[in-house]
Amino acid sequence: MAQVVIIGGGFAGVWSAAGAALARGERDLRITLIAPGERMVLRPRLYEPEPGLATVELRRILDPIGVEHLRATVSEIDTARRVVVADGQEIPYDRLVLAAGSELVRPRDLPGAERLFDIDTLAGAQRLADRLRGRADCSVVVVGAGFTGLEAATELAARGRVLLVDQATVVGEQLGPEPREAIESALDELGVERRLATTVTEVGDGYAALSDGTKVEADAVVWSAGMRANRLTRHITGSLDHLGRIPVDRHLRALPEVFAAGDTAAAPYDAGHTVTQSCQHAVPLGKVAGYNAAADLLGVPSRDFTPGPYVTCLDLGGAGGIFTRGWDRKVMATGAHGKEIKRQINQAIHPPVDDAAKILAAADDVYLDLPFFPR
Ligand SMILES: Cc1cc2nc3c(=O)[nH]c(=O)nc-3n(C[C@H](O)[C@H](O)[C@H](O)COP(=O)(O)OP(=O)(O)OC[C@H]3O[C@@H](n4cnc5c(N)ncnc54)[C@H](O)[C@@H]3O)c2cc1C
Repeated sequence: MAQVVIIGGGFAGVWSAAGAALARGERDLRITLIAPGERMVLRPRLYEPEPGLATVELRRILDPIGVEHLRATVSEIDTARRVVVADGQEIPYDRLVLAAGSELVRPRDLPGAERLFDIDTLAGAQRLADRLRGRADCSVVVVGAGFTGLEAATELAARGRVLLVDQATVVGEQLGPEPREAIESALDELGVERRLATTVTEVGDGYAALSDGTKVEADAVVWSAGMRANRLTRHITGSLDHLGRIPVDRHLRALPEVFAAGDTAAAPYDAGHTVTQSCQHAVPLGKVAGYNAAADLLGVPSRDFTPGPYVTCLDLGGAGGIFTRGWDRKVMATGAHGKEIKRQINQAIHPPVDDAAKILAAADDVYLDLPFFPR
């Protein structure tokens, strides 16, 4: 029997599996998802105080739709022979979907780098939560004032003193100028100190040294600067974009037998933009890549990738949230309203479980089901 193999059990991998199952219908096709863990990790929620709650058992999504889960880590993809090597075992594929996600870019030569904390993975977020648990009025340095660093800093502000450090001269540089004033006022409200045009030069026991020559107290230094696509992308092509992603066409195809989805895929969003490394794009990318991988084998027409309107929603802890719309990130909601939208998004990103009809219906719809996402 022909086989679709999906690498990754995050948003893109799970939705690829559901997309492939949707295209398969009652026909014969084996669909196998390879991921090392038993759980799908909802990475956008890892800044929360109890990150262990931000997971879903993979079997509750995959079993009802007849997708096999191979618990293994892929170390090699041989596109000439159409096999992947997972924990030393060769798995053949007819169509492959690479959905192995992204990872934090860690500093190479920083003295004390082994002491850094992060909220990039469940293990990292749990290590940080364990470190701070039970400590009253702790001091934390967050390195990187981008999306993740801002969410971490504002959440941690409820626990004590937070210093936000960034090489850039402004906070949220990549978010653009539109939401900056609202972000600045939230940081002021929460007492989050900023040290801009600055970086960390050493992490020691209970302190961080900064490039401005100062040394600050730190129970934890949280690194949140930079993301890069999983290294398996290099097994598909040598032509990766600046984030290490594979260029794909509007059907999300990279090679005749290989598709890419989620944080590994540089898919066209519109004439002027490429998708972002975000859950918002990983979900529809997965749905379309998985569908097309199976459709290709079954002689069913492919689907185009047509994502919904681009939005961002930043959680600012006790200062609420900011919801923006469009690539210029026009601010649509702040404060309690922004926070309520974030709460709804954090609920909506949970895939349906235990019910094949609901999972397949969601796979058939590339929009996240939110009341404020116009269709
Ligand atoms: C703290 C934080 C906050 C974020 N907030 C937001 C937000 O507010 N909005 C938003 O849209 N996005 C947000 N993101 C980004 C979002 O989480 C990612 O873009 C999204 O998780 C990408 O989905 P993915 O399936 O491509 O990858 P991932 O979710 O990273 O999943 C990758 C999967 O591949 C598996 N895998 C990796 N390597 C291998 C291998 N060698 N073999 C087999 N399996 C492998 C992993 O185990 C995992 O199951 C946030 C991310 C973080 C870390």
